[in-house]
Amino acid sequence: MAKTIHIAVISIPAFSHQASIIQFCKNLIHLHNHFHITCIFPTIDSPLPSTLTLLKSLPPNINYTFLPPINKQNLPQHLSPAVQIQLAVSQSMPSFHNTILSLSSSSTTPILALISDPFANESLEIAKRFNLLSYIYFPPSAMTLSLFIHLPKLHEEVSCEYRDHKEAIQIPGCIPIHGNDLPEHFQHRSSLAYDLILQRCKRLNLADGFLVNSFMKMEENTLEALEEQNREKHNGSVFFVGPIIQNGTNNESKGSDSDLECMKWLENQIPNSVLYVSFGSGGTLSQEQLNELAFGLELSGQNFLWVLRAPSDTSNEAYLGVKNNDDPLNFLPKGFIERTKGKGFVIVNWGPQTQILSHISVGGFLTHCGWNSVLESVVLGVPMIAWPLFAEQKLNAVLLCDGLKVAIRPKINENGLVEREEIVKVIKGVMLDGEENGIRERIGELRDGAVDALKDNGSSTRAILEFGNCLKRFGRNI
Ligand code: UDP
Repeated sequence: MAKTIHIAVISIPAFSHQASIIQFCKNLIHLHNHFHITCIFPTIDSPLPSTLTLLKSLPPNINYTFLPPINKQNLPQHLSPAVQIQLAVSQSMPSFHNTILSLSSSSTTPILALISDPFANESLEIAKRFNLLSYIYFPPSAMTLSLFIHLPKLHEEVSCEYRDHKEAIQIPGCIPIHGNDLPEHFQHRSSLAYDLILQRCKRLNLADGFLVNSFMKMEENTLEALEEQNREKHNGSVFFVGPIIQNGTNNESKGSDSDLECMKWLENQIPNSVLYVSFGSGGTLSQEQLNELAFGLELSGQNFLWVLRAPSDTSNEAYLGVKNNDDPLNFLPKGFIERTKGKGFVIVNWGPQTQILSHISVGGFLTHCGWNSVLESVVLGVPMIAWPLFAEQKLNAVLLCDGLKVAIRPKINENGLVEREEIVKVIKGVMLDGEENGIRERIGELRDGAVDALKDNGSSTRAILEFGNCLKRFGRNI
């Protein structure tokens, strides 16, 4: 009988990262069913309810543990949620160390390797202390990984703020990008956020390899560049294992009344007629922007299904559970629901996204370009309106709009607003002119590439198999 390989996995307290790595673990176990995986979750206050739901459907050879929670009140309140999450992860490292210690001393199946989220990569130093192989599971795009690996060099080469840099930034293997479209953490070089990301990027050197949630047809040039960048250090071990997405049957609100109602509403619409609007697991708009979006949807005359969240001046505030308890419907322009009756359906805070995207009535997705949403849209062949808000979403928008040409990005005015007329324009570009401008054909080709990558002999399936085989080879030698 094959020897059991035991792998530890560490994520960060953010639903989309946890969901992605959990699904990767399931895919790995599916192909290597004698592996055993322990998922370790640093926690702020308490485990995320949506993740707890996902954990209910784990196979028996994946188990999990939550590290003792970091109290949110003890994190610096003036910093962005993304930075607070990183600080909480750093504060969890002593408990992570203890967990690895106890797993390593287990006489039955000691751990062979650690797979870490890029934002928990202090854990790689601990892995080295325990002589573990260490890999980064990278939930976002290969373009983002290439940027992260390239950042220490870019930092030396460019002395001004990146957004003031005259030339476009050249990330290895990617289309050139304006400094303004680099991730939000890169925008103020004297900030703690930038300092943290620079340290994290330097630490990527410690990894033995990378597992990237992307696939060949989507980012082939970037894969080649990554392999080139890593050849000496990592023996070229970059595995494109995506698209890894939720299967649509196990999210938090499965089967809730509002889910059923919204799916029923979709049933009554004609194919490709509905624009789905959602800003991820916690993205929010300002009140002013929410008004413009509402008026834009109304003026467009297009059918829409909108996952509505109460407004906030900080676009990612809801990620740390700072929820506005007011009913989001109260923030819509007066009379909006009545005027759009029959044309539009508003669902509050959370919708069954992959089920919605897979419905034949849905013909477009207005998305904040979180990588999971992007991949879900690609796998389900839905063209996008790219409306990035924070994190690396602008980078994703550039890849989708300028590189792959499967999305259209609205223009922002000098006050940082997307105006209603612009919203009408991009809705038309995707929903009505999508055949003519080729966007539907291109998303169809990309979808086929995604489906092929996931077939039994597809590139991503082979990459996961090969990754497991690498571990087995190391396992035999120890
Ligand atoms: N999601 C969902 N329903 C919602 C909003 C989000 O199921 O109403 C899921 C979505 O399908 C995706 C994830 O939450 O898998 C969001 O991840 P993404 O990377 O797009 O954005 P993030 O939440 O990290 O900003």
